[in-house]
Amino acid sequence: NITKSEALNRLPKQFFAELVRKATELKQTHDDVINLGQGNPDQPTPEHIVEKLKEASSNPLYHKYPPFSGYDFLKEAVAEYYWREFQVKIDPKTEVAVLSGTKTGLVEISQCLLNSGDTAMVPDPGYPDYWSGIALADAKMYTMPLVEEHGFHPQYQDIPDETLEQAKLMFLNYPNNPTGATADVELFTKTIALAKKHEIAVVHDFAYGAIGFDAQSPISFLETPGAKDVGIEMMTLSKTYNMAGWRIGFAVGNSQMIEAINLIQDHYYCSIFGGLQEAAAYALTADQSSVKELVATYESRRNVLIEEAAKIGWKVDAPAGSFFAWFPVPEGFTSEAFADQLLYEARVVVAPGNGFGEYGEGFVRLGLLCSEEELKEAIQRIGRLKLF
Ligand code: PLP
Repeated sequence: NITKSEALNRLPKQFFAELVRKATELKQTHDDVINLGQGNPDQPTPEHIVEKLKEASSNPLYHKYPPFSGYDFLKEAVAEYYWREFQVKIDPKTEVAVLSGTKTGLVEISQCLLNSGDTAMVPDPGYPDYWSGIALADAKMYTMPLVEEHGFHPQYQDIPDETLEQAKLMFLNYPNNPTGATADVELFTKTIALAKKHEIAVVHDFAYGAIGFDAQSPISFLETPGAKDVGIEMMTLSKTYNMAGWRIGFAVGNSQMIEAINLIQDHYYCSIFGGLQEAAAYALTADQSSVKELVATYESRRNVLIEEAAKIGWKVDAPAGSFFAWFPVPEGFTSEAFADQLLYEARVVVAPGNGFGEYGEGFVRLGLLCSEEELKEAIQRIGRLKLF
C-alpha cells in the first residue's frame, strides 16, 4: 500500500480540474460550448519564433545536457529585454534564472525561502499556484484582500503587526489575474518600504507584463528604486508570445533569491532544451510587432465584451491589463451557482471567482481568449437568461 506524503496531502485542490471536467462533459453532447473559463492563449506562436526553434533543433550542441542554470546568451537576452522595455539594468550572470514556465518558479520560491510555520502573504483573489508552494513548505498563508474600492491593491495598513513580523515572503501580481487591475509606482514604493522594514522577500508575478490597454504599458516591479534589494519578478513568454505550451519563463532580480532558485532547480531538472532557449532569446530580442498586434487584439476583444455585457445590464469597469475581465455575479447567486447556470443554460464556460480565494466569491472571471464573434454570441446567450 502506497501512502502519500503529508506535503502532497497538503496541496490545494486543482480548482480548474473541476471546471475542465464539467466543460468537457458538456462538449460531448453540445458542439456550441464557448469557453471563457481558462487562461490558455488561443492564437499561435508568431511564425518567426517557430522557425527559429525548427532551425535550432538541428544543432547537435543542444542534443546534449544544457548548462545547469541555462545558456548565457538567453540570460543576456532577458537583460536586453529589461533594458529595452523598462530601462532596468540586470546582471545576466547573477540576476536571471531560467525556468520551465514561471509556474515552477512560483512554487519553488516558497520551498527556497520558507520553513515550516513561517508566514507568506498572498493576494486574495489570486492565482492559486502561490498556495501550492506555501503548502508544500508547510508554511502559513495570510491573505491580503483585493477589493475594487482600492483598485484591487492590497492595503498594507490593515495587516496586523504580528503577521508582518512573522511574514517572510509575499506574492503580488500585476496586471492581475483574475481582476485585470494594474499596479502603479505608489503601490510598488509602499511594497518595497514594507518589505525592507519587516524583512519580507517579494515575488512579483508579471505574467501579463506585456498586456496593458489604453496606451498604458504595465510597469515592472524592478523599475521602482530598491526593488532588487527585496525581490524578484517572474516573467514568462507564455502570454507575451503565445508560447504557453513551450514552457519557458524567468525569475529576474534579487541575486540571493535567484541563487536559491537555481540551487533548487539543479535538483529538479538541469535546465531546459537548448533549442528552446535559443528560440526564446530570439523572441525577446527580435522585432516586437507581434506583441503590439496581440495587445491590440485583446484590447478590441475587451471593448466588445464590456460593451456587449453593458447592453444586457451586466456592467463592469474595463480591465486595464491582462486578458481577463472580473464580473460581479447577480444578487442571489454564489459564484459557483452562477457559473453553473451559464454553463448549463447558455453553454458558456466562465471561472467562478471563489476558486481564486474568499474575496473572489461574488465574481466570475471571463477570458478574452476567443474571437469577437464568439464573445458577442456568449454575452447574447447570457442575456437571454434575463438574470440582470
Ligand atoms: N502567473 C499567473 C498570474 C498566471 O495566470 C499564469 C498562467 O496562467 C502563470 C503565472 C503561469 O505561467 P507559465 O506559463 O509561465 O507557467
